[in-house]
Amino acid sequence: MFFLAFKVHKLAENSFARFVVNPMMMYCLPRTRMAVRNATYRTYFSTLQQSAPQHDECRFLLILGKPGGGKGTISKKMLVDFPQLHHMSTGDILRANVRNGTALGREAKFYMDEGKLVPDRLIIDLVLSDSTPMLKEGKSLLLDGFPRTITQAMALEKEVNVDLVVNLDIPTETIVERIADRWIHPASGRVYSYSYRPPKVKGFDDITGEKLVQREDDKPEKVRTRLAAYDEATAPLVNFYDERGVLETFQGTKSDVIYPEVKNWLKLKIL
Ligand code: AMP
Repeated sequence: MFFLAFKVHKLAENSFARFVVNPMMMYCLPRTRMAVRNATYRTYFSTLQQSAPQHDECRFLLILGKPGGGKGTISKKMLVDFPQLHHMSTGDILRANVRNGTALGREAKFYMDEGKLVPDRLIIDLVLSDSTPMLKEGKSLLLDGFPRTITQAMALEKEVNVDLVVNLDIPTETIVERIADRWIHPASGRVYSYSYRPPKVKGFDDITGEKLVQREDDKPEKVRTRLAAYDEATAPLVNFYDERGVLETFQGTKSDVIYPEVKNWLKLKIL
């Protein structure tokens, strides 16, 4: 058994040297860091036999930063300039689950409303199961809001190789001002900012005319809890990815100023 596994390992190394063998992300892994992992080789070969699309150019990107630090805004800009990326925001997915009253949403809501992180056991499975279909199709993915703890980062690392990490370093006082300015349309999740993306009529959604509200976790005391959770649980990820040589930090207070730098860096790395 061991001998057979060894032979398969070697065959995989030789024949498919540009792919990292991984049952979940078979066709879409970095070319540079060769790492044949503890893959299910049977799955590997049977999946290859199903004429897998070999997307050599696909990438796995993360965007890190404090809550309210503009990850969503920068991600949207990235999607325009790099349309090959598919955006996945754990905050958006969780809010959609809350809106739809799913079991996950009901459990997550308690933590989210308190400004706390949703437990790893809930979020890790969610992210890995949602990203699998996209990765299997060979799509490039931009993950926003995950990982947020070292446990999540390690779970992710078991499944995929992260290519690039955009780390947004925004001053806390800018974030507090920004969050106070953010109002949403709860039914759709549409987000407005009174400073830079105001609704046509103050306090009301542009499309439905319904009332805008402040997110429960955007209220000042909850914002403090979220920032503390970031410092304690998420900030260590900056070193984690820096040590792996995939992270670049962008500092500033305005997304319009920061983004061109992000774009230039990504162009160098992606094209
Ligand atoms: P966000 O919109 O990304 O700020 O996320 C809103 C809330 O969703 C967070 O304050 C957490 O309660 C929860 N959340 C989102 N992503 C994660 C994650 N990776 N781990 C734990 N909780 C998360």
